[in-house]
Parts: sequence; structure tokens; C-alpha cells
Amino acid sequence: MRAPAILSFRSASTAVALATAVFAFSPQLPAQPVPAGPKVPDLIQPLVSRNLKVTVDTTGAPECQAWAERAKEMVQVWHPVVSAYLDAPLNPGEKKVHLVFKEMNGVAATSKDVITISAGWVKSHPEDLGMVLHELVHVIQDYPTTQSVWLIEGIADYIRFWMAEPEGQPKRFNRAKENYRNGYRTTGAFLAWIEKQYQTPIIRDANAALRRGTYKDALFEEKTGKNLNALWTEFMDSTEKPAAEPKRPI
Ligand SMILES: [Zn+2]
Repeated sequence: MRAPAILSFRSASTAVALATAVFAFSPQLPAQPVPAGPKVPDLIQPLVSRNLKVTVDTTGAPECQAWAERAKEMVQVWHPVVSAYLDAPLNPGEKKVHLVFKEMNGVAATSKDVITISAGWVKSHPEDLGMVLHELVHVIQDYPTTQSVWLIEGIADYIRFWMAEPEGQPKRFNRAKENYRNGYRTTGAFLAWIEKQYQTPIIRDANAALRRGTYKDALFEEKTGKNLNALWTEFMDSTEKPAAEPKRPI
């Protein structure tokens, strides 16, 4: 049975520990001479998101208020972590995330820094806090142009399921139906496999190119020596030969 998701599992604990450690080095401590070089506040800015302001609007769905507060807490914990991972630009101004709950079709949608969430979905899937993390990734991605949507969705689900909710990772794939261009968990699994198999930070490299607006599929061949189709075939072959199940203790 799946425990209620608060995203306070392993990685969230790591996130909190990281944020705590960063706060321990906060320049709010007694002023000390700062050596020449980049200023400390600039360096830690993406980690602490000290200017982050998360607001919630449940006027259209007041019954979601308690859930919305949990979502807000999750955003506050994960925003700095995802911002650092995706190398979000350091803007001196305030960063905002606005969560709006209302009756709508679909699950959720993101436009710039506004995440609109279906009240009906929250009521029928109260455990699904992770979908807010997926949408938060889109807020932070904020790529300059609409580019390869499959990759953008794959990165969002990679962050959700490989950093926060590992129990949601797909266990097997249907070769006839699946393709890396499906996005979401399928692409997330493919990216995770490439990073491990080829020991290359393909997600960060892809993110950097998407942020510049220069992403091309050739990036995968540059980084691994193989094109996307060859990589996908190799990935499928690897998933069809799973390692033996560990023996259960008797
Ligand atoms: Zn998405």
C-alpha cells in the first residue's frame, strides 16, 4: 500500500538537510570579512530561495485548503533543490509560485509561475502530491521557447520519480507501445538509464541546451556516441533481461 505522499521521504530529508546546512552558512550570522571572489549570497541564492514567495488560492475550492497547505510546504522544500539542479537563473527579484485550486478538466496545468490544480483530482487522489512537484519543475524550467515537449516532460518526471518518489518508477515496458518520445515516466526512465549506463549527466546537459533554446537530438550522440534510436533499442533490450529477483529469506 502506498503511504500518503508528503514528499518527505529520503530525498526530501536530504533536501531539508541541505537547506539546513546552507542556512548554517547564512550571511545572517555575524558579519565577517568576505574574501575576494563571488559573493556568498549569490552562491547560496538558488539553494535557499530566500526570496521565494508561495501563495495559495482555494477560493474556488475551499475544501482543498488543508491539502493546499501541504502542497505549499512541499514547494518551499523542493523549489531550491530543483532550482539548483536545473541551474535556474539567479534573478535578484522575488521568485513566486502561485497555486490555484479549482474545478477543471485534467489534473493540473502550469503557465509561467502559476500552477492550476484540479480540485476534483485532489479529492479523488489525495496521495498525489507528487504531481505538484512535476508542475513545479515546469515553473523552474521556464525555457525560452517551446522545444522538445517529450524531453521537458521526461525531465519533470525524472525529478519526481527518481529524486522524490522512487516507488513510482515503472518496472517494465511494452516495446510495442513505448517510445522515448512518449515523455513522462517512460522518458524519465530512459534518461536515468543513460546517466547510469554512460556515466554522463545527460539531464543537466539537456537542461542547459533547453535553457539556451539550442537543444537538438544530436546532443545524445555527442554525449554517448549513439543516437536516440540506438540508445532506446539498447535500453529496451536491457529492460527485457531483468536481473534475477533477489531470493526471499525463508
Ligand atoms: Zn508536465
